[in-house]
Amino acid sequence: MNILIMGPAGAGKGTMSERIIAEYDIPHISTGDMLRENVRNETELGLEAKAYMEAGKLVPDELINAMVEKRLQESDCEKGYLLDGFPRTLVQAEEFAKIADRINKPIQAVVALEVGIEALEQRITGRRICPKCGAIYHMQSHPPKVEGTCDECGSEIIQRKDDTLEQLQVRMAEYEKSTKPVIEFYETQGLVHHIDASKTQSEVFALVKEALGKVA
Ligand SMILES: [Zn+2]
Repeated sequence: MNILIMGPAGAGKGTMSERIIAEYDIPHISTGDMLRENVRNETELGLEAKAYMEAGKLVPDELINAMVEKRLQESDCEKGYLLDGFPRTLVQAEEFAKIADRINKPIQAVVALEVGIEALEQRITGRRICPKCGAIYHMQSHPPKVEGTCDECGSEIIQRKDDTLEQLQVRMAEYEKSTKPVIEFYETQGLVHHIDASKTQSEVFALVKEALGKVA
């Protein structure tokens, strides 16, 4: 199945992506990772992208499109793909629709993870990380054994600077503003499955599976 996953930071997109690709035996195509990989491997497209990045400019849509088009034609995409982080804008969505049609791999389902700001606030403002080993904790759902101290390495755990309510509100507003036209674009094609992502991971995955089960 050809799936696009969308959701604000903190909605559990990473975990859900892992479960979806395992269930459907499809690759997780994160455009961020794909871009970095192309740059690292110095592919033709990667080198072109690197020039923009080094000049402090955004990598143009055409380049990302070309990378995605190439990626989707690799053999591991035979059963489908899970696209993540793209299309991000209406222009990208329209352009991608043309590409996907051309290579006969149109998006069949859009999984839109939705979570209210209250639930996100709890998830994000309770999060603590260990700056030394990268371990992640949560004050309510996964606290360290000794308060303020990393279980793994004993370092003092900290709150990331952007894990605050103010930053969350800014990010949510930006996310909603930029994704709304994209969601609407797919909505008119009847592809969007709105998933309540405020529940537990297993419950959310059950909802995703139920929604995707109706697609095939
Ligand atoms: Zn640690």
